[in-house]
Amino acid sequence: MFKSIQWKMVAIFVMLIVAVITVVGSFLMINIVNLYNREFSVMMGQVFTDDFIMQLEQPPEDGNDLEHVSSVVQSYIGQLGIDTYRFYCILDAKTGDILRTSDKARSEGLEITGNIITAMAGGAGSDTDFKSNYMDYAVCVKQNSVPKYIIYIKDTKEEIQSMTQSMLWILVQALALSLLIAIVLGWLLSRTITIPISNLTRRAEKLAGGHFENIPESGADDEIGMLSNTFRSMSMTLHETIEEVKGEKSKVEIILQNMTDGILAFNLDGAPMHINPEARAILDMDNDNIEFDSFFKNINANVAMGDLVYIKQTAPIERELCLQNGRYIHLSFTTIEIEDKIDGIVVVIHDTTKQQRLEISRREFVANVSHELRTPITTVKTYAETLYSSAKEDIERRFLSVIQTEADRMTRIIKDLLTLSQLDDNSSNVHMEDVIDLKVFIESVISKMEINAAKRGQTISYMPINEVSALRTNRDRLEQVLVNVLGNAIKYTPDEGRIEVFTSRVYNDAVITVTDNGIGIPEKDLPHIFDRFYRVDKARARDTGGTGLGLAIARQIVESFGGKINITSEQDKGTEVTINLPL
Ligand code: ADP
Repeated sequence: MFKSIQWKMVAIFVMLIVAVITVVGSFLMINIVNLYNREFSVMMGQVFTDDFIMQLEQPPEDGNDLEHVSSVVQSYIGQLGIDTYRFYCILDAKTGDILRTSDKARSEGLEITGNIITAMAGGAGSDTDFKSNYMDYAVCVKQNSVPKYIIYIKDTKEEIQSMTQSMLWILVQALALSLLIAIVLGWLLSRTITIPISNLTRRAEKLAGGHFENIPESGADDEIGMLSNTFRSMSMTLHETIEEVKGEKSKVEIILQNMTDGILAFNLDGAPMHINPEARAILDMDNDNIEFDSFFKNINANVAMGDLVYIKQTAPIERELCLQNGRYIHLSFTTIEIEDKIDGIVVVIHDTTKQQRLEISRREFVANVSHELRTPITTVKTYAETLYSSAKEDIERRFLSVIQTEADRMTRIIKDLLTLSQLDDNSSNVHMEDVIDLKVFIESVISKMEINAAKRGQTISYMPINEVSALRTNRDRLEQVLVNVLGNAIKYTPDEGRIEVFTSRVYNDAVITVTDNGIGIPEKDLPHIFDRFYRVDKARARDTGGTGLGLAIARQIVESFGGKINITSEQDKGTEVTINLPL
């Protein structure tokens, strides 16, 4: 209780009063005592002038000099301030005996002071020690230049002592009264400050607890009033902001609840902050008590918190996987960043089961159709060949030749489509059983392709930059990749063109680069070049016998090896295909 500002202020008031009264009282008392002392010296100086001494020393007519001295002193009793506390004595200058006194009782046993001794020696003793409990003055009265009497005035200081005592008593009373007033006033005054502050504190406590009450406006225009009003407007703004945030939050929650994608948000400890109903449904979750790393390890997503938090990701980490419940999902992991600091992770789950099933049935359909078409096309081709050999008319031969070319093209498309469906089926478990020397391998593929190039006067040169002697791979499939890429280089490079192949080892990759100085690929087509059936110029591609599946097959194979294939090209200048294969 005594820690409150109210009591501190009362204490300050009390201390102030005590200090003021003590200082003023002491100052007053010291000054009064000094004044009293000084007044004694002044009085003595004024009475005991040289004339006065001469008057005393003048021999009386009756010869009774003691009587003369006594009567003269007696006549100055008023000027000397003789009263109950101050008396005079006439002493014998030789013996110091009291001859006359104004106060018998007080002069009894009179002490021979320094001033008396000075007077005995014929002078005037006026030394005053302010600290001693008396003041005295002694002057010598001579007869025929011989010290005869001493007039001695002594002040017992009892008057000033009683005065200072009563003053002290008055001061103590004044102090007590002032303290009482100070306590009451301090208490009342400080209440004017502490009551609004306690009100503010109570409101602030309520505010901290989330209770917003209507704070009335303060009419006072002092600092406390301003503080109250500032607090009022702060509380109002806070209330509005919180309401807005609440509104936004519930909007976001409604959106999350109704999203068709699953959303999981995790904090940096790996604990879930939010799981929307769709995520629960997709992942068959029966409790929210999950942990990031173990949860995604269990569903084989192969993503750990550390991958996201400690390695700066420029794009979300994406995963496609099939859950134990048979659902296909696409996962996208993104970090939540607040002021450049990672604060958590959001995982968006998209159920791709329908698309996957559709894709599977589409692939199955393509595979079945391709398979079914193989026999009729072979039959068409065989019949066309037979008819061609026995045809007599030119027009017949021309038509039959077109039938044969188109039948060949269809055979190629069917072959490519079947290869792709095979790759679709087996891309996850490709057999990497062959260990090859890359140089030997490339040379053998080039030698097979050289016949086609030579027909068009093209040269294929090979430069191994450094040795890659033991590449584990699937030989047939890698050969297919090279045949497709080199085949394209031959097809899309004019006669007499130059095709170059390089192989090298870069870090942990074997890199195969095929460049040509052919027609190149327009920039707008580059992003689609690996799509199935995509051809830059359909009419031209048909002339070259292309199917639009060659690069799609090449990419499918390279990716099944865990590698990458890229194309850079400039129209009318040439093309460069780079294949990276992990060693
Ligand atoms: P295609 O069977 O038509 O060659 P690809 O999938 O192999 O199909 O290639 C797709 C398209 O990319 C081709 O139609 C062609 O226009 C273009 N292309 C591929 N390689 C080259 C190249 N080396 N130079 C120019 N264009 C190329």
